[in-house]
Amino acid sequence: MKTIKFFSGQELPVELHKVRIVQKLFLKPIEERFEAIEEGGYNTFLLNTKDIFLDMLTDSGTNAMSDNQVSSMLQADDAYAGSQSFYRMESALQEVFNKKLLLPVHQGRAAENIISQVFIKEGDVIPMNYHFTTTKEHMEINGGKVLEIYTDEALKIKSDFLFKGNIDIQKLRDVIAEYGKDRVAFIRMEASTNLIGGQPFSIQNMREVREIADEHGLMVVLDASLIGENAYFIKQREEEFKDASIKEILHTMTGLSELVYFSSRKVSSTRGGGICTDDNDLFLKMRDLVPLYEGFLTYGGMSVREIEAMAVGLYETTDETVINQSPSFIKFAVEKLDSLGIPVVMPAGALGCHVDAKDFLSHVPQEEYPAGALAAALFIVSGCRGMERGTISSVRDEHGNDILADVELLRLAFPRRVFTLSQTEYLIDRVNWLYQNRELVGGLKFVDEPPVLRFFMGRLAPTSDWPQKLIAKFKEDFGESL
Ligand SMILES: *Cc1c(COP(=O)(O)O)cnc(C)c1O
Repeated sequence: MKTIKFFSGQELPVELHKVRIVQKLFLKPIEERFEAIEEGGYNTFLLNTKDIFLDMLTDSGTNAMSDNQVSSMLQADDAYAGSQSFYRMESALQEVFNKKLLLPVHQGRAAENIISQVFIKEGDVIPMNYHFTTTKEHMEINGGKVLEIYTDEALKIKSDFLFKGNIDIQKLRDVIAEYGKDRVAFIRMEASTNLIGGQPFSIQNMREVREIADEHGLMVVLDASLIGENAYFIKQREEEFKDASIKEILHTMTGLSELVYFSSRKVSSTRGGGICTDDNDLFLKMRDLVPLYEGFLTYGGMSVREIEAMAVGLYETTDETVINQSPSFIKFAVEKLDSLGIPVVMPAGALGCHVDAKDFLSHVPQEEYPAGALAAALFIVSGCRGMERGTISSVRDEHGNDILADVELLRLAFPRRVFTLSQTEYLIDRVNWLYQNRELVGGLKFVDEPPVLRFFMGRLAPTSDWPQKLIAKFKEDFGESL
């Protein structure tokens, strides 16, 4: 991807790849989309892709592979133990992350399971820039408590702070002073903090964290699932690294941590994951859990074909024109939505575009799930599927009341190299139409609410006949068939 200045004065992101395999999509009429969301209980997780036009639920396992990744799968070496595919992946990791030792696992959360079991004991705390859902669960199952010590800018929707993923250094000192270093299992830094808008941290911040970790003999664990984008943002936004290669930046990041783990559903557009380190003692502490939970040490629950594609995908992560595709499209969408007066998380981050539903639907009380309502309404008017990241994704307290989320976001993910700019324009146009007609959108209520992780399988219903009114207005503006 390269942002190019046009004769017209516009600057647009232009793809440095061509599309050679395509998948047919359908844009169904609005009545059929309405039926689909009714059937899915107003929960976008319960939609079927046959009814979806642009699937922007997540970037996990939905990215496009390169021709070199696909062709590498043909040379996969099937073997339970000692597969050549594994050694190719190990070399890729040594080159890209500059870590000698690798434990393969079937996906990111499997790495979290192993790290949490080995390094967290009952009563420990784990300070971090922000949690990720599966990370937090694994840490809590093992008796740990997650402490989020993000900067004050992190939860502001609109900010010009370029590193909202930074750890607040003073808060880190306070945590260590309060709990004592023996109760701090390790410090976790998540690259491009997923749940707060794909926001990066800076190398300067990581160096400061490293210094404190060294003072107290603590380990720094890097969640590298979205490391490529974080490295790209460092190159864009941190003066010291403006002329550095992406590989140099990656090495600087991994060099400041003892353990690096990742989900390759994101970082290399395949499946799988891994844990890397240079420290043989740490490696040996974790090693025996791999055959127990994942598979033998040379496949870790992955197919050899996935391992081959992962190795190639990792090399491609060092190519700036590859990793900047999704951030460039996100920036394009975020800046356009912002110029239309639509509230979005700024600055633009990795992973997706995040619409502030609390502001967008300010007439819908948080108890009626504005982010969920916005996700359902956008699907009805566009066929685009986003993900609710607000109170539906939260839980209830012991009295049965909703614990209201810090932010109500509709996340519109941009899987890497999947959508075109005209599709992005379509999305922006329909979000804008919805914004102009936002007073027509009402709230949601649960009709079937599972006790755990309710956002996955829960079913909801509109609090009034607002979807019908929205559809009537849509037809007035666009005619019958769209
Ligand atoms: C997706 C993700 C994970 C979990 O990875 P899976 O492969 O989905 O299990 C962990 N951390 C971060 C930051 C992620 O984005």
